[in-house]
Amino acid sequence: MLTQNNTKIEATLYCAQPPSEQQKQQCIQFLKNKYHSDVELSWKEDKDIKEGFRLEVESWNCRVKSVFDWSVESRFQQFKDDLTHLPLSSENIVPLIKEAIHHWTPKALEQEVGTVLSVGDGIATVSGLPNATYQEVVLFSNGVRGMVQDLRRDEVGVILFDEGSDIAEGSFVKRTGKAAGIPVGEEFIGRVVDALGNPIDGGEAIRANGYRPVESPAPSIKDRQAVYRPLETGILAIDSMFPIGHGQRELIIGDRQTGKTSLAVDAILNQKGKNVVCIYVAIGQKASSVAQTVDTLRRHGAMEYSIVVNASASEPAPLQYIAPYSGCALGEYFMNKGQSVLIVYDDLSKHAIAYRSLSLLLGRAPGREAYPGDIFYLHSRLLERSAQLSAEKGGGSMTALPIVETKAGDISAYIPTNVISITDGQIYLESDLFFAGQRPAINVGLSVSRVGGDAQSKAMKSAVGTLRLDLAQFHEMEVFMQFASDLDEATRKQLNYGQGLMYLLRQDKHQPLKLSQQVVLLVAALNRVMQDIPPGEIGDFKDGLLRYMEQEAPEVLQEIERTGVLRDMVKEKIVTLARNYLSLTNKT
Ligand code: ATP
Ligand code: MG
Repeated sequence: MLTQNNTKIEATLYCAQPPSEQQKQQCIQFLKNKYHSDVELSWKEDKDIKEGFRLEVESWNCRVKSVFDWSVESRFQQFKDDLTHLPLSSENIVPLIKEAIHHWTPKALEQEVGTVLSVGDGIATVSGLPNATYQEVVLFSNGVRGMVQDLRRDEVGVILFDEGSDIAEGSFVKRTGKAAGIPVGEEFIGRVVDALGNPIDGGEAIRANGYRPVESPAPSIKDRQAVYRPLETGILAIDSMFPIGHGQRELIIGDRQTGKTSLAVDAILNQKGKNVVCIYVAIGQKASSVAQTVDTLRRHGAMEYSIVVNASASEPAPLQYIAPYSGCALGEYFMNKGQSVLIVYDDLSKHAIAYRSLSLLLGRAPGREAYPGDIFYLHSRLLERSAQLSAEKGGGSMTALPIVETKAGDISAYIPTNVISITDGQIYLESDLFFAGQRPAINVGLSVSRVGGDAQSKAMKSAVGTLRLDLAQFHEMEVFMQFASDLDEATRKQLNYGQGLMYLLRQDKHQPLKLSQQVVLLVAALNRVMQDIPPGEIGDFKDGLLRYMEQEAPEVLQEIERTGVLRDMVKEKIVTLARNYLSLTNKT
């Protein structure tokens, strides 16, 4: 036993065969040099150690144990760990591994080994890890991994990443010295992985190019620049009135079943061919819903540039808690390489609930709605990591579309207000609109995009004109609709026009519109070409008009796509063509 005044320490040598006298002396000398005190060494048989040995030393208070593991398994593990830090890629993998084998020297690493005091509900309390750090990964004797989440005076609270059924009071826990992280690399694109980066789509193992801690500081102000590039979602209502820019964080908020996921998935589908890596993080959802989303992405060819990180409702709360951070770490890998990333967190309400259960189990004091005091920080530190990096930093970007579910439309509840205040705007989806057939069910009055306007293309800016104002006026007068027969002609026309605009904004899911198509529709509608069409027929008119434009004036569409500008002349041409098409439809 290592006494406080360092008189003598007791050590045990574990190996399959009894050690020779020389081996014993070598061990004693090693410990003497390390602890500067006398050593009493005993041998215990351990048949599990095929080759090598393990040396265990207990410290003065019997609660801290140091282990020097020299078994073949441990050395192999050390080598594997070293390899994960190499920047391996398909070109350099062979020479780098050769070199690593050549230069590798085994190290007698001192490990702190703690003991489980109690375990349950995915949480273990462990004593004897006095130097463990926040968010460090620890390894239980049965191979289950966990992460240090709570540091107390004599013990630490550990969240388990796996079923902890074989862990019992008294089990040993080893520190790994590594912060919880996730392997990252190009090969993740096209794959479905869990919160720790393991593939769960039945495909082959993923070769990583590196390893990133799940938590890392957000880019500083110096490393960022203002949002300046539009990120088109292909949804007319959003791109026209609530434009999103690369690097922005735009919240999608609404009750259950109001089309939140569909909206985010549409935004991903619209990135096809635009060189944007998309990451969809599913938190606490039913596995079947996630499977459907993955299927949609696959059917539309969007998995070719997307990654799905899934911590479904059946996974332990710790995995649901780290899933968005893992997704974000993957995104940062691409962002730091100068690429554009779009990340969807679906959804942060369930994330907050997972964190609440963890915190309560860890014995932290509950606050408002039983959430812990640091619930704001939970989401702010995640969303702050989205950025448009400066040119010096490579100019990459990460755009975040977090989703939050409200209860009975209450956007002033705790989590919604928190996330609203962190993000650069929100798109509010309303059940009433959704059930009235207005899909996407965007409430124009309560939605806003605080920075995206700067990034909106010139063509869209000039096409969108007074759309928001017209819609606001329409909503003010909407109550008079029921008296339609008693209204004067001008008011009735205004109401008709407003209703037409609402129909214009209806869009089926998974049918994103190109910039040029959106511009054509807006120019036609705002110049009152669709004024006299019964609202129910506007959908067909829209489709027909786009087909007509494609046939009659493809150069107009191409010019808008190419230049992102809408010249006055082109605008007039669109109005004329739209009128022509209207008269054609009236004749038939
Ligand atoms: P949950 O709260 O369960 O996560 P959600 O808000 O994510 O739901 P979705 O799953 O996206 O909502 O959509 C709910 C239903 O509405 C789905 O059946 C979807 O097909 C349908 N839907 C969503 N958007 C549209 C749309 N634009 N046009 C037609 N149907 C839509
Ligand atoms: Mg959903």
